[in-house]
Amino acid sequence: MASSAFELTRNLVRFDTINPPGNESHAAHAVGRILEAAGFRVAYHSFASHRDSVIADLDGSDNEKPICFTGHLDTVPLGAVPWSQDPFAAETSQGRLFGRGSSDMKSGIAAMVFAAIDVARRPRRRGLKLVLTASEETGCEGAAFLAKTGVLGQAGAMVVGEPSSNRPFIGHRGALWLKLVHHGKTAHGSMPELGENAVVKAAHTIRALDDFGFNIPPHKHLGKPTINIGYAQGGANVNSVPDRAEVGLDIRTLPEQSHDHICSMVSARANPGTELERTLDLQSAFSDPSGAWLRSVFSTVERITGQKPAEDTAPYFTDAAILGPAYGNPPFVILGPGEKEMAHQTDEYCVVERIDEAVEIYRTLASNWCEGRN
Ligand SMILES: [Zn+2]
Repeated sequence: MASSAFELTRNLVRFDTINPPGNESHAAHAVGRILEAAGFRVAYHSFASHRDSVIADLDGSDNEKPICFTGHLDTVPLGAVPWSQDPFAAETSQGRLFGRGSSDMKSGIAAMVFAAIDVARRPRRRGLKLVLTASEETGCEGAAFLAKTGVLGQAGAMVVGEPSSNRPFIGHRGALWLKLVHHGKTAHGSMPELGENAVVKAAHTIRALDDFGFNIPPHKHLGKPTINIGYAQGGANVNSVPDRAEVGLDIRTLPEQSHDHICSMVSARANPGTELERTLDLQSAFSDPSGAWLRSVFSTVERITGQKPAEDTAPYFTDAAILGPAYGNPPFVILGPGEKEMAHQTDEYCVVERIDEAVEIYRTLASNWCEGRN
């Protein structure tokens, strides 16, 4: 068994959990075995073959809600550019640990596990729960499965260990991904008047969405909603009239925005007859920084890192979009030892010394909660 969070990070990086296909089960069981040995009640839940998520519970003496630590076991693919480091060797150099998932977010999971082992040795009033999910990267499918099957139990506060260089993030915008499908009628390229050009229809849609505005003031912490035309695809060969063209939109939203309303605004602008499909629909997540628990998180982070945290938010989405509502929206923080700039990058690494720093932060947050100090 790994003797430190650093060792466990290396072991986890050596499991290839690139999603797709994910294959998180081996990593899930490796972590589950450690937690079981520490006294946790461990259950595995797979939403598909070899796609296990782990829920580990440690009870307290009182019948109060536990604190939940959560992270994801999967990683994104390696990308097209070759790596200069082996992405699964977990080599270290100059204080950095290299590998796919080192920052996003196997170091975070390893730090949670070692903090949890320590908390399990002490008496506690309230419980501690770890929810380690499969398939976050492609749209939180693992977390959504846990929520749907009703196995999450309760939580009174939540720590999401996504990469933040051990600085607290208090939320993130929602994500609404849309696929706009334009239909036409094919014909020979020499007789285009016999066809109906789907690519031209897609071009109309793109032009109409180019100056799309949301007409709402920016959120104090989350900023503005955005829309990005991520891809446009259509046509098979130069001498045919294309009968199908797709446009992909990535819309990032604020808490007060309704995704239904945004869909109808996009539909109204798109070329008539365009089919609209939601490929991802995740709400934003936001935790009020003036709340008592979050204030205590800030002071713990300041004491351990020596830096006063700002009220920042994460650029990416997290499982908090699913788990927060499933737990009745308890206060939460996004806080992990990985570097957010390294997430999804070629030659991803994490900074080794932040791993133990995260263990200390997590241990303090967990024991404060479990001993009923906040
Ligand atoms: Zn992540």
